[in-house]
Amino acid sequence: MRHAAAGLDPFASRILEEAETSANAARATLASVNHPPYPLCSGEEIDWLRKLVFESQYVKDAGRIRDGKIVCSATLGRLEHPSVLPRADFSHQDGARVYRNLAPFRIAGLTVIAVQMGDAYIVYNPWDVKNLGAGSFMHFTFTESDLSTGQIGRLLGESPRAGPMVLFRDGHARVGDTLYTTLCSTRFASCITAYVSIPEALRADRAEFSGYIALSGLCGSVLGLAWALLYRRNKSIERQLRRAIRRDALEVMYQPIVELASGMTAGAEALVRWTDEDGFAISPEVFEAIAEERGFVGDITRLVVRRTLRDFRRALQQRAGFRVNVNIAAGDLSDATFLPDLERCLEQAGVPARSLGIEITESSTARKQTAKEAILHLRRMGHVVYVDDFGTGYSSLAYLHDLAVDGIKIDRAFTGAIGTAAVTETILPQILAMAASLRLQVVVEGVETEEQARYFASSGRTILAQGWLFGRPLSLEDFLRRMASEEMHQPEAVGAA
Ligand code: C2E
Ligand code: MG
Ligand code: MG
Repeated sequence: MRHAAAGLDPFASRILEEAETSANAARATLASVNHPPYPLCSGEEIDWLRKLVFESQYVKDAGRIRDGKIVCSATLGRLEHPSVLPRADFSHQDGARVYRNLAPFRIAGLTVIAVQMGDAYIVYNPWDVKNLGAGSFMHFTFTESDLSTGQIGRLLGESPRAGPMVLFRDGHARVGDTLYTTLCSTRFASCITAYVSIPEALRADRAEFSGYIALSGLCGSVLGLAWALLYRRNKSIERQLRRAIRRDALEVMYQPIVELASGMTAGAEALVRWTDEDGFAISPEVFEAIAEERGFVGDITRLVVRRTLRDFRRALQQRAGFRVNVNIAAGDLSDATFLPDLERCLEQAGVPARSLGIEITESSTARKQTAKEAILHLRRMGHVVYVDDFGTGYSSLAYLHDLAVDGIKIDRAFTGAIGTAAVTETILPQILAMAASLRLQVVVEGVETEEQARYFASSGRTILAQGWLFGRPLSLEDFLRRMASEEMHQPEAVGAA
């Protein structure tokens, strides 16, 4: 029981804290939506709503109400047939009405709350499940009180069990074999009740305990041996990788990036390849991680930049608009010598910086200030900077906006989800709409089927695409052959490519 109780309080307070932060942010957005600077549901207003949604970490939609009906919103656009507002689940003293995870506010895959006040409403996601870090055996209920009726009810979360309750002096309560704790917000009429079943906690505890015993037994034998082997292998991978870099033995392949409307090659992404000394092709994600951890990732980036400039020097100098992107790692952003080296390389090759695109993954921008300064510097030099694998950290759109990049590369997980109504109906159009309103360039990754290509082509914007449908990563020779054949077949379109 002590074990169960110890985890329960921090768990509850983490949820309450996040619920309060998101509610504060949601209320601030709601106040803005109630003072719109544009005519009702005009194009400008919808763009403005999208921007509000984009800038908030929690708010997923914002919309306008007229005569008790939803007339337009950031994600729905203008509604031809306004949607009647359902009955609110809870009312607050300040006039706000709160709705559970209900149509028409529901967003697939997300737990959301809608709040309506005056002529506006917003839909927000009260917590990012990833941030809660809950043990699998902890549960919670988010309750809200309706101050107009005095009724208290469940807003979100699971339903706790009812029964005779034993109260403890430390504030915990027990119903049957379930232990409860409740924390209430001092700002909002809401409370979090976290609970855990004692047998479940015990089972988890016992599993942990027997795990320790097994682990200590194994440590001396199997695990120790495995660890030693792994360590040696890693060590030798690291040594081999360093050797390969020294010998300039990494390969660089180029995957075509096409303009979706015309299908013409607009550029490429440089992707590094390495085959170890035993003849195994190691994934770049694996060896990049080793190099990053051991502090020599910059050597790989420099090799790729050098190779790209050597391979494409002519095309980059002569073809207007042709651009090759290179991937840079978190280690490059914090390396003070990286940007001056890059500048020198470009100067020596006589290639303008705008022809070399830079891809930075969302995750490598975690150290925000460093990332922001490096991005600013890169853009001042003339590079076009993209956030790679965009959407994999979807909750922080506002954060990415703040980084001030030129474009986003939408992660292939989103492309893969096209056709599965959930994502296409909510998140993808929202990303495209927000990218449009913020004038961000868009490159979609992982386009494998005609259906996916058609989906993006119909979005009405200039979109670049990359994926197996248009070409796998190619050797330089194959890539140049492809460009030459395109030129032969569509000579009038080359200038535009
Ligand atoms: P990324 O930058 O997002 O690169 C795109 C990855 O998606 C590539 O995998 C590419 O081969 C793959 N891909 C392209 N089209 C499709 C498709 O239609 N379907 C599927 N399923 N996959 C597709 P790759 O080459 O294995 O690279 C994986 C990741 O490794 C890259 O992701 C990038 O983060 C990293 N990486 C690769 N080269 C470099 C490099 O030179 N420097 C750095 N820092 N990272 C690199
Ligand atoms: Mg990339
Ligand atoms: Mg990517």
